[in-house]
Amino acid sequence: MAEKIDHIGIAVADLKAASEAFALLLGVQPGLPEEVPEQKVRVVFFDVGGVHVELLEPTCPESTIAGFIEKRGPGLHHVAFAVNEIESELARLTEGGARLIDQTPRIGAHGMKIAFVHPKSSAGVLTELCEKVG
Ligand code: ZN
Repeated sequence: MAEKIDHIGIAVADLKAASEAFALLLGVQPGLPEEVPEQKVRVVFFDVGGVHVELLEPTCPESTIAGFIEKRGPGLHHVAFAVNEIESELARLTEGGARLIDQTPRIGAHGMKIAFVHPKSSAGVLTELCEKVG
C-alpha cells in the first residue's frame, strides 16, 4: 500500500538554473546536490511540507534522464510513493498484472530502495516506489 507521496521528480537540463528557479518558486532552499551513479544523475531535493521536489540532471548522455529530455524536453518525470516493504509491494503488483521496470529494488538517492513501475501500468505517469532504509 502506498503510504504517501514521497517526492515528485522533475527532469532538468541545468541543475543550477532549475534549483534557483525552484528556490524562488517555493521560497525554500534545496538540500545539497547528490550524485546517484546508478541512475547517472545529479539530484537536489526541496522539502515542501514533507513532500519533496526532486530535480534530476543527467550526468552523461547515456542517462535515461538525458534520453527523456531529448525526447520530451525538461519537465515532470515521475511521481514517487513511499511504501513500507518494497519487495512485497513489487510482488503484489506483479501478481496483479502490473508491468514493472525494476523487478527488484535498486538503490536511489539518500540510499533509499527504489523501483519503477512502467507508465503503461500507471495511466502514462512513470511511477516510483521507494522505501526508506534504516
Ligand atoms: Zn525519484
